[in-house]
Amino acid sequence: MKLKKTIKFGRVKRITELSLCEMKKEILELVNSGKMLPLMEEFYTIQGEGYHKGTAAYFIRIGGCDVGCHWCDVKESWSSELHPPTDIAEIVNNAVKYSNTIVVTGGEPLTWNMGPLTEQLKLRGVQTHIETSGAYNLTGEWDWICLSPKKIKLPKEEIYKKANELKCIIYNNNDFKFAEEEASKVNGKCILYLQPEWSKREKMMPSIVDYVMANPKWKVSLQTHKYLNIP
Ligand code: SF4
Repeated sequence: MKLKKTIKFGRVKRITELSLCEMKKEILELVNSGKMLPLMEEFYTIQGEGYHKGTAAYFIRIGGCDVGCHWCDVKESWSSELHPPTDIAEIVNNAVKYSNTIVVTGGEPLTWNMGPLTEQLKLRGVQTHIETSGAYNLTGEWDWICLSPKKIKLPKEEIYKKANELKCIIYNNNDFKFAEEEASKVNGKCILYLQPEWSKREKMMPSIVDYVMANPKWKVSLQTHKYLNIP
């Protein structure tokens, strides 16, 4: 079938004479190269967690994650097919209107090649932050890397050397041991955070407080945006 009119594929519109199959292939290639990304949502808010908590930042949430944390609070992000392939120029143009601090999150953003997106963001002079499980190869140019490792798919070795903060989620008491194992792998400058999983915060906070007081190399991170009822 040949198409000669404006076609909508997710958010992408173009005049084309390509067959539908050819067009899908072309877009898939752009996604695979990082020139388009499955954009789930983007919003300007306050970073609620970790070292930069309290900082106004523009969030870009990229779809796609196969890590599979059972307590994940963005399960809608898992399937990249639900989120429209979006030209990175469009993403960057939107983002820089709002903030000098851009946080790329997911899903697992390192599912994709982050090189082209961060290259364009850096050309616009903004700070690039990523929130990642580290489960895939590190791509992109980052001013701040928040590594939040997950037991079921451990980070790749190279990211431990580059992580600026290690954010370990505490769902139950076994997670303190995992947090220590991960802390033993990061570089000496990496800031260490323990953060209660949101649904377990009331149960786990007393243990986290005790643990941090007994082991002050750790700091507490809270999802303050959720307390503030902002995205
Ligand atoms: S890595 Fe993040 S997005 Fe993926 S399942 Fe775990 S919490 Fe959810």
